[in-house]
Amino acid sequence: MSIGIRGKWVIAYDGAEHRLLRDGVVVTEGNRIKHVGRSYRGDVDRWIDASHHVVIPGMICTHTLASTAPKDKSFIDDTGARHFYMSSLGENLTALGRSIRPDDYHVFARYSVAELLRSGCTTMLEIGMVSTLGAEAAVEHIGELGIRAVEGRNIEDGRWARSQGANLETEWLGLEHGMRLLDEAERFVKKYDGALEGRLIAALYPSTVDKVSGPLQKAVREKADELKCPVSIHAAQWVVEFQNMLRMYRRTPIEYLGDTGLLGPDLVIGHGWAVAGHPLLAYPAVGGGDLGLLAKNGATVSHDPLVFTKRGNKMHSHSAYLAAGVNVSIGCDTSPQDMLNEMRLASYMSKVADWSCFSGSAREVFTSATLGGARGIGREDLGRIAPGALADIAVVDMETMNNVPCRDPVKNLVNSATRQDVELVIVNGELVVEEGVLLTIDEEKLVRQVQKTTEAIWDRIPENHYLRQTSDEVSPQSFKPWNGD
Ligand SMILES: [Zn+2]
Repeated sequence: MSIGIRGKWVIAYDGAEHRLLRDGVVVTEGNRIKHVGRSYRGDVDRWIDASHHVVIPGMICTHTLASTAPKDKSFIDDTGARHFYMSSLGENLTALGRSIRPDDYHVFARYSVAELLRSGCTTMLEIGMVSTLGAEAAVEHIGELGIRAVEGRNIEDGRWARSQGANLETEWLGLEHGMRLLDEAERFVKKYDGALEGRLIAALYPSTVDKVSGPLQKAVREKADELKCPVSIHAAQWVVEFQNMLRMYRRTPIEYLGDTGLLGPDLVIGHGWAVAGHPLLAYPAVGGGDLGLLAKNGATVSHDPLVFTKRGNKMHSHSAYLAAGVNVSIGCDTSPQDMLNEMRLASYMSKVADWSCFSGSAREVFTSATLGGARGIGREDLGRIAPGALADIAVVDMETMNNVPCRDPVKNLVNSATRQDVELVIVNGELVVEEGVLLTIDEEKLVRQVQKTTEAIWDRIPENHYLRQTSDEVSPQSFKPWNGD
């Protein structure tokens, strides 16, 4: 099938950077972009009028945990653990996670993908589905919903355990345990890479820097070099992990990744904010620090601002990473999973961090959400509108209550657009969202399923909280209940 889109604006790629094309035409044929320019003489199967819209490359979310993230909504907000420097990891999230039943993962996974597509995201680096749903079901959901996905199986040889009170430490399970998971992960890559007409990109997912031992990190590096696939790991994601790494190895999380060789151009680090020099850590950066190391090794950081902003934590400055030469992409991690919202927060948090209007510009964060993500997963045919690139495109209405007046559509995308303005989404040359409605799933039914599923999870919290607390104790309602008398 071929599609032609006539847009008021097209964010086109000139081979080096995004450019603003006024009154442009984008033509797709099959799963590729065939033509970008001011006019097109040939025939297409279908013309799309985007006369008050901006045509953008589909965004790339480089961090999402689709089968579990929706549990966060209406629960983790305004909560956290002071003894963990406000993080919910190791406390509330553990109880919530343990309250999920196997069927719930399916509902959440489908909802997450739906949310992402509706926000103009066409590729997600998703961590967890293959482990929670099993490979076959995960691939089936991705196939049905129509997104492009980077997927893999989790690999680790450690787990977090409390030695006393809230002292969270790594308990090692033995290298053999990790090597078994690495074997399974390799089988997944060999079986599924390129599946779903190329929509499935297989990857290796060592879980977190403090749950994957040095020898296992080295083994993952060797395997990634052999399989030539992307790798993603959680690192520099909370204060406790940063301090535990210093105590275990006398190295920061990023330095340790450098020591084991895992730090390379194929590595996407979620979340990479707890780095030497960050004000919350009081640990000085010397000799270029962690940012210098990230830049030197060409690794990518997934900046996922929402989940951390809610805790009062943040990556210190999006722009500072870019200025240090680090490739920065954007991801979601928590619900709502909305790339427009994440771009906005990335921009604003960077400005606040630097006390500067110039920091976190729309140009910077939009580039991170597209080209930055593509570089992270090693794909020069994604995140851009150019002949030969894959036909992953979003069309956003700029003549809506949110977006008028529009002079600069990129500034409006970052500062005022919402999911409701995303009118059309194309993945791999196929329409998946039209007139703002997902074509691949019954949205109303999905919404009802998510509410019902999560109500049951909240009821199960006391069975799974280490202090036997209820949902309302862990996450109090904003206002006290009132019976009306
Ligand atoms: Zn994460």
